[in-house]
Amino acid sequence: MNKQEFEKLITHIPDFPKVGVTFMDVSPLLKHRFDDVITDMCKNIDWSNVDYILGIESRGFILGSAMAIKQNKGFIPVRKKGKLPPPTIGEDYSLEYGHDTLEMKINKESAKIVIVDDVIATGGTLKATIKLCERNNFQVQAISMLINLRFLNQLDQEFDNIHSVLNFD
Ligand code: AMP
Repeated sequence: MNKQEFEKLITHIPDFPKVGVTFMDVSPLLKHRFDDVITDMCKNIDWSNVDYILGIESRGFILGSAMAIKQNKGFIPVRKKGKLPPPTIGEDYSLEYGHDTLEMKINKESAKIVIVDDVIATGGTLKATIKLCERNNFQVQAISMLINLRFLNQLDQEFDNIHSVLNFD
């Protein structure tokens, strides 16, 4: 699918959810081109070397679960604090203001995973998820994102396995 067509279906909402943030609303893109989005997000990943998809709450659930079905993989949720029953492990991370915590179920057996979410902004959410994986026997084979707001992060320099359908420089 043509990237310009994708971009036209993303609405930029100024000052949401707070002043100074431009929210990338991917709802129209998912409404009209869901299959194309999922196909593109699955590209350039060696799926023979992946056990599970790990989706970050909450748009990572929509994208990650569709990718999991397409690739015949299981799905693992990473959730906001207090949503998963114990035993869980958690990782604190910084937002633009304050702190939050992400949690996942404790995992004993080593497994290879792909992390999925809609947007990388500052990268705090992704970094916390990678730390959780490292502490929880998950090897991160690849990271698949719909949008990377590269002007807000340098994560491409830190990790060589980030795949983004759209990059904003
Ligand atoms: P960050 O931790 O700053 O990289 O933020 C990433 C998470 O926040 C993702 O789960 C996104 O869904 C959400 N997010 C952050 N900034 C935006 C934005 N400008 N537009 C849409 N979602 C965003």
